[in-house]
Amino acid sequence: MDKEKIEAGVRMILEGIGEDINREGLRETPERIARMYEEIFAGSSEDAGVHLQKTFSALGSDIVVEKDIVFYSTCEHHMMPFYGKAHIAYIPDGRVVGLSKLARTVEVFARRLQIQEQMTGQIADAIMQHLKPKGVLVMVEAEHMCMTMRGVKKPGSRTLTLASRGMFEEDCRLREQALGMITA
Ligand code: ZN
Repeated sequence: MDKEKIEAGVRMILEGIGEDINREGLRETPERIARMYEEIFAGSSEDAGVHLQKTFSALGSDIVVEKDIVFYSTCEHHMMPFYGKAHIAYIPDGRVVGLSKLARTVEVFARRLQIQEQMTGQIADAIMQHLKPKGVLVMVEAEHMCMTMRGVKKPGSRTLTLASRGMFEEDCRLREQALGMITA
């Protein structure tokens, strides 16, 4: 990541909105934002496969659900935060993954410029590719600051997205079962 370029860009934005970039409160803002971007966009250079490598054999679980994985992401249309919870259900094909690894997978895709719909699909695809379950369902619910802060939508309104792969895509009864577990 080119921190100097980010700092120069932030200075231009501040000047563009008519600010005095030399006043005390703003003097270190460009550098602070550049440092923050390194953290909140760190997922751009990360591979979700790293977190889904270590699997364990497990027998007998029809559906595994990990609910309420809190995430913070940034919408690529406005560069404003959207944040909420991701819920993941999968049907193991003999292998399961540590629950914290699912949260890490969500983080990899959240920490980059994103579109919620795309992030939901990317999480599902990464789990299908690396864990190879019989099916996966990912549901994301989020509040978008670019909507709620500008008054387009009421504060607290949430956007829901769903991605289903494998057996969850083919079998609506299984999909309903997983959704029931998630919303229970
Ligand atoms: Zn937006």
